[in-house]
Amino acid sequence: MRTSIATVCISGVLHEKLEAIAAAGFKAVEIFENDLIAYPGSPADVRRICADLGLTILTCQPFRDFEGMPADKRQRTFDRAERKFDLLQELGTELLFVCSSVAPDAQGGIDRLAADFRELGERAAKRGLRVGYEALVWGRHINDYRDSWEVVRRAGHQSVGLILDNFHIQARGTELATLRSIPGDRISFVQIADAPKLQMDYLSWARHWRCLPGQGDFDLVGFMDALETTGYDGWLSLEIFNDRFRAGSATSVALDGRRSLIWMMEEAGRRTGRPVRGAAPMPPPSPVSKVEFLEFAVNERDRPGFEAMLAALGFTRTGRHRSKEVSLWSQAEIRLVVNSEPASFAASYEITHGASVCAMALRVDDTAATIARAEALLDTPYGVPVGPGELDIPAVRGLGGSLVYLVDGSSALSRWHEVDFVPTGESGREPLLERIDHVSQTMQYEEMLTWLLFYASLIDATKTPSQAVLDPGGVVQSQVIESGLDRPERGLRLVLNGSQSHRTQSARFVTDFFGSGVQHIAFATFDIRAAVSHMKAAGLVMLPIPENYYDDLEARSDLNVEEIAELRSLDILHDRDAAGSFLQAYTATLDGGFFFEIVQRDGYQGYGAPNAAVRLAAQTRAARHPAIPRGRS
Ligand code: MG
Ligand code: MG
Repeated sequence: MRTSIATVCISGVLHEKLEAIAAAGFKAVEIFENDLIAYPGSPADVRRICADLGLTILTCQPFRDFEGMPADKRQRTFDRAERKFDLLQELGTELLFVCSSVAPDAQGGIDRLAADFRELGERAAKRGLRVGYEALVWGRHINDYRDSWEVVRRAGHQSVGLILDNFHIQARGTELATLRSIPGDRISFVQIADAPKLQMDYLSWARHWRCLPGQGDFDLVGFMDALETTGYDGWLSLEIFNDRFRAGSATSVALDGRRSLIWMMEEAGRRTGRPVRGAAPMPPPSPVSKVEFLEFAVNERDRPGFEAMLAALGFTRTGRHRSKEVSLWSQAEIRLVVNSEPASFAASYEITHGASVCAMALRVDDTAATIARAEALLDTPYGVPVGPGELDIPAVRGLGGSLVYLVDGSSALSRWHEVDFVPTGESGREPLLERIDHVSQTMQYEEMLTWLLFYASLIDATKTPSQAVLDPGGVVQSQVIESGLDRPERGLRLVLNGSQSHRTQSARFVTDFFGSGVQHIAFATFDIRAAVSHMKAAGLVMLPIPENYYDDLEARSDLNVEEIAELRSLDILHDRDAAGSFLQAYTATLDGGFFFEIVQRDGYQGYGAPNAAVRLAAQTRAARHPAIPRGRS
């Protein structure tokens, strides 16, 4: 199958859209009628621009309210069709894209509609054109692909075919068994979209919430499997109406569009055991067994305070880099790299983002295979300059220009800390923390789907439904990606946050301070009370939680008074789900931005979402309090 995209998917005016689509590597496009109407040039100009960009125009869609018109309006409807045929010919394209009628006076009846299409097919054939028929899920009489197929079948004209759009089929949950029996050569065109599962009317859902394959909850593999059974080998075209895409970057959405189709075709082939025609070969996705290390970019001036904070968190400086101003801090399974090397990637990252996480290293099964997969998915591999005898750890570009290193168990890469670092001989205390529990990244709201697709396509991951969290400045959307949680090292938990309001903590983090990036890292401990007591004693400033929270906890939780008093004294929050209980505490923010979280999971699977509003309010109050310890006083 060859791939295409509709101009409605992306932001901008028509020529900007076409340029972005061509730059992403698409060779074909559907022109959305509204884009053409708003364009000041002639259809011939559009045809020329597309030709210059190497884009084939597949159709100019849609043609609405055609079939089933009463006798007094029927002639006029055919006149409209003839004018649309003229337009298609000026554009140099062949397919008239008819979507099922929503006209209040349209009449039903399969045979009546089939007769209309037979006549339309006859007229199209005279001009060397074709007609396709799509059932809209909100169509007046035809809103099910099984009925549009019956109309096409009974029209019995070689120039009339079926258009399938998986959104209109899967939104309603219509069975796909019928699709398998449709001959592929009767299918004119296929449109594809994903969408989150939402409870809303079909029209609003379709017009605002469709998203790219891999960003939503639809069973696209099931659809592709049924489509492959038909023998269809034509176009597969993205038709996405999404408010974030309308506000986002045309270049980025067009590139994501290609990435999503490449991913979906490979995913469908791999999961069904039957490769999709035209799918790019690539290695399968690997689960992430753990976050191997996190790298902080910290300048020389901020470094003492930052390292004092790590020490208060229970970390020990266990290594110094052989050639660079870089040190390794460790505790139990956790490794943090603090990079203050001038004129390095970290230094340039620090200049734009401040003290922050500039890289995240993920442990995968096979680094080379994951890099090859990243390349096939149009991700951007990154080479870091290394000194003699140092390891070149492969990486791809991640959020905000940060790096995602990929480490595997092969001898050299798994010993990165021994190869690049000289032991300091400093001996650690009894660990307070056990491992990295989750990494939380904050980004522009419009970027969220891009990074969701980045992770969901590159690694073997699952995503949980998006959640809304209340911040004193507005709503923050939060989306969790999990991978390899069944691995002994407990895998990767990643939280993506974005906010439409400019006044939330998330938005201020992105726009006022640090740009898109890691906003907090949560460490897991077996004993949060002991850990937080120790950290407070070491001078670490924890985020103060209001008394009212604990009064409420007395009323709603099963904790006893003594337990609550202890949590209150340590600023620890509590939650419970069906699987168990959860305790969490936060450090104050570093310069108003980054912070650490300490968690203790006793079976609990979530992230403390019910407490997020309390945390965000506390952070808003404490906005400018530094987290750096003042020393014991
Ligand atoms: Mg459609
Ligand atoms: Mg968290």
